[in-house]
Order: sequence, then structure tokens, then C-alpha cells
Amino acid sequence: MEVKEPKRKFPLIGIISGMISVASHGLKKPITVQYPEQKPYTPERFRFRISLKLDDCVGCTLCEQVCPNGSIKMESLNRENPRNKRKIYPDVNFGTCTVCRNCEEICPTTAIYLTHEFETSRTRNSFLYSPTELTMKEEDVKK
Ligand code: SF4
Ligand code: SF4
Repeated sequence: MEVKEPKRKFPLIGIISGMISVASHGLKKPITVQYPEQKPYTPERFRFRISLKLDDCVGCTLCEQVCPNGSIKMESLNRENPRNKRKIYPDVNFGTCTVCRNCEEICPTTAIYLTHEFETSRTRNSFLYSPTELTMKEEDVKK
């Protein structure tokens, strides 16, 4: 038995609605950003690269203990700081850091904290930041 297709009242309606949809998208502002010449928008609460205030670190090792994957290790650093008698400060392996913010939340002096910086690409084969490098801006860290 032959099956007849139902007759459509407006045979071009599908094509026209498709063209309208394409045209409406064509008129929208593009969301692609020409990075790195243009910087993408980062929300106010976005956090990524970790920083450290050496003068505020008391060497309590809480950040090292709370880090879930061992990305933080304490390092000796010979600098005068009456608040840090053991002279130990955290370094961070950003290659394994999951940006969980545990270290920031547990730090009793807010010495370690996450920043807006996200451009951490580099040529050296290590994402380990020494305590001194954690105090620097990303562009000043040796790549
Ligand atoms: S953000 Fe999380 S994973 Fe990264 S160093 Fe801190 S505690 Fe460790
Ligand atoms: S950064 Fe904060 S939590 Fe880590 S050792 Fe220093 S004071 Fe303690």
C-alpha cells in the first residue's frame, strides 16, 4: 500500500525559518577573544595562581598538611622574620594543584591566597614555585 506524504501549506517555511535563525546569530556580537592580544573577561570571584606573603607566614605547615595531593612542601628560607622562627615557607607545585583553595582557607594569617592570575604557561619543565617566586607577579617569574 502506497503511503502519501501530507501536503504542506507553506513548503518554504522551514528554509525561511532556518535563514532567519542563521541571520540572527550572524548579527550577534562575537564571543571569541583574540588572545593574547585581547584579555578574556574573568569573573570577579575567579581564582587561580597562588601567592604568598612571606612576612605573614608563620611556618605552621597547615597548608602543607591540608593539601589533598601533596602540592605544597615546606622549604627552608634564610630570611629574618620574627613571626617565622623555624624559617620554613611553603612552595607550590602548580602542575598538580587542583585549585581547591584548602590552603587559603586554613591559613591562620592569610599569608597564602589565590589570585586572579591565570597566565602560567612557560617553557621550563617545572611548575614548581619557590616561596620567593610565590611572592612575585607571574610575568616576573623565570619561565
Ligand atoms: S589549592 Fe588545593 S591543591 Fe592547590 S596547593 Fe592549595 S591545597 Fe593544594
Ligand atoms: S602559608 Fe599560612 S598555613 Fe602555610 S605555613 Fe604559612 S602561615 Fe601556615
